Amino acid sequence: MTEGKIIKALSGFYYVLSNGEMIQCRGRGVFRKNKVTPLVGDNVIFQAENDKEGYIMEIKPRRNELVRPPIANIDQAILIFSSTEPDFSPLLLDRFLVIVEYSEIHPIICITKADLLTDNERLKVNSYLEYYRSIGYEVILLSSKSEEGVNELYPLLNGRTSVFAGQSGVGKSSLINALNPELQLKTDEISSHLGRGKHTTRHVELIEVCGGLVADTPGFSSLDFTEIEAEDLGHTFPEISGKSDECKFRGCLHENEPKCAVKTAVENNEILKERYEHYLQFLLEIKERKPRY
Ligand code: GDP
Ligand code: ZN
Repeated sequence: MTEGKIIKALSGFYYVLSNGEMIQCRGRGVFRKNKVTPLVGDNVIFQAENDKEGYIMEIKPRRNELVRPPIANIDQAILIFSSTEPDFSPLLLDRFLVIVEYSEIHPIICITKADLLTDNERLKVNSYLEYYRSIGYEVILLSSKSEEGVNELYPLLNGRTSVFAGQSGVGKSSLINALNPELQLKTDEISSHLGRGKHTTRHVELIEVCGGLVADTPGFSSLDFTEIEAEDLGHTFPEISGKSDECKFRGCLHENEPKCAVKTAVENNEILKERYEHYLQFLLEIKERKPRY
């Protein structure tokens, strides 16, 4: 019996990567009994029938599980935003960060199209990025075209399973190509792959990029906060979470409560006002339970 990882599921077959070899496996009936369906990303024990085929005998416990795309055991989400065309949106970045933090998946922020920035625009984008670094995030400003910054991603992808996330047109497929020239997939080919409508059932595949595995379908396409409670929101903002112990009231939502350490930190410019305003906007959304885009 050997251990491996499912990197593709198609027509009842699971393609298991084990020691650099791909084994085409079928699941044993046990999964149906236990109501566990093998997922791409699952670490499994399989019984090889020969050097190409086998049977999955056991699914190792999952660390986490994403619904869209359906993938288990994700190490990190690479959040992709363009610095320009379309303009960098801190609001959208914060929205993604809330969802990813809530899912307890480690985010890495990548800002693309650096080659298109004027000096002034670059200063402005960099001042935002410095703030995100100061609250603990890994942030890379890069260009798939000039390849500036792209190599900073290599060691972060190596040995890990990643999901790329970001709106259409920000440069996800261009980046995957820049990271993996051997893949030689045409941009529009990956784009149509990545841009598939969210109601279409399709297969997901993990592809080998820079010594790690990357989902070929972007994640976190749903950016509403339906599962998040008002009390949870503060925990998804590291700098708010870090201050909330000092608020006078336990369960302070940092709105209008007296002696709120978060509001004081905003007034003292320790917390970026814009981030706090996004927090309030998301809080209102959660209270009203009406997703806005
Ligand atoms: P996706 O929808 O997120 O996969 O985005 P694409 O990778 O298809 O890129 C969208 C458009 O932006 C394409 O026209 C790309 O050529 C362009 N693009 C992507 N990355 C860069 C970059 O780093 N620099 C420049 N100048 N253009 C880029
Ligand atoms: Zn407070």
